[in-house]
Amino acid sequence: MSIESVNFLKSKGVKFLRVTFCDNANAIRAKAIHIDILESNLDYPVSITAAQQAFPIMYDAVVSQSGLQPVGEIWLVPDWTTLKILPYAPTHAIVMADMVVADRSESGSSSWSLCPRAFLKRAIAAAKEAGIEVMAAFENEFVLLDNVADRIIPTDDTVFAATLAMDLNYKTIDAIADALIAQDIIVERYYPESGPGQQEISIRYDRAMAAADRQILFRETVRGVAIERGLKASFLPKIFADRAGNGCHVHLSLWQDGKNITGDGSGQVSAIALSFIGGILQHLPALMALTTPSTNSYRRICPHYWSGAFTAWGYDNREAAIRVPSNPILPSPTHFELKTSDATANPYLALGAVIYAGIDGVRNNLNPGSPIDVDPGNFSEVELSRRGISRLPQNLGEAIDRSSSDRLLLDALGPELSRAYLAVRRAEWEAMKEMELEEEVKLLLERY
Ligand code: GLU
Ligand code: MG
Repeated sequence: MSIESVNFLKSKGVKFLRVTFCDNANAIRAKAIHIDILESNLDYPVSITAAQQAFPIMYDAVVSQSGLQPVGEIWLVPDWTTLKILPYAPTHAIVMADMVVADRSESGSSSWSLCPRAFLKRAIAAAKEAGIEVMAAFENEFVLLDNVADRIIPTDDTVFAATLAMDLNYKTIDAIADALIAQDIIVERYYPESGPGQQEISIRYDRAMAAADRQILFRETVRGVAIERGLKASFLPKIFADRAGNGCHVHLSLWQDGKNITGDGSGQVSAIALSFIGGILQHLPALMALTTPSTNSYRRICPHYWSGAFTAWGYDNREAAIRVPSNPILPSPTHFELKTSDATANPYLALGAVIYAGIDGVRNNLNPGSPIDVDPGNFSEVELSRRGISRLPQNLGEAIDRSSSDRLLLDALGPELSRAYLAVRRAEWEAMKEMELEEEVKLLLERY
């Protein structure tokens, strides 16, 4: 970032730069700095209190078991490669930030142990050490709603891929796509999903860090454009009982020396990808505290809802936690997707944890078993156990318990981050575990 870039932002009419971060509850937050004083504050534009990473999603109050308090200042250092002007709020720009602490004795700073981006950087480095580069994309489902108070009115009530929903929503969808493209995000496909008002727009994969940054931009953009058009958008996993939930599947591919090594060259998953999948499936009950981390998430994870409710993998199997899509043209497969994931997940923490689990699989040559080519939801208990498949945790409390005893995950997060993260999610579980869907949706609809 230089004076030329500041002048460029000024020439575009930008007044504020939102220095943005994502907290342990996956609320996207920013402090903004005025463009007139940016030049003299480029390195350390804004700061937050350490307690900021101890807030649950319900309210801004410190969770006491988090190990954090409103003492200690954390500086948000922009990663200037992520700078974008916001198409839906064009007098504001956004930049993603790393969290650092000042070194008291000398001028300078060092990374904060609770920084989510730093966690993902460590995971990427661990993968590199194992000779793997991970590419990823978050594939979001979300709903568009009329902007009315206290009532949930979806913009359509159609079936999957209904062209009627396209006609009803195309102006909003086009505006979202335009805004994504203006932020250098490649838009791939769009279709109305199965639920009321439910939409899916897929975007191009990228290196893991860029993919996680894009997940923040994606959520911000969908909501920003919806607001601009007098609507509401929500990524909350389950809004309507007995209708399709909103997934946020994580697509992954493994690379070595610039070459995709996910497939074996003859239509099957490569040995290395197979053990990576083995690692994810082995740790999945614990990972869910990060990939499906809200009380609401578990209303979505149900058999027969295509949401990945079992520790199974399979080719083109939409009921398996890991689906390996196949292509008619080789090389195939090129990637696989984790379906047991939603947009209440902090993308840096979720992706970082998934990478650590995959690398554990590679290091220990974990075998995920045979691919499953039927719906595991139709297996009897006996059949499930014969095949070594289990039903994944059915509530957040269970997933937190599993993660609290997963050594790999705890070591990867480190003592401070794991303590604060799990304390935040545990506080959410305690506060919301008895809620009925309606009350929970009222609280969370506009948080995610
Ligand atoms: N809506 C489903 C979910 O909750 C996914 C449907 C699909 O396969 O795209 O994950
Ligand atoms: Mg979908």
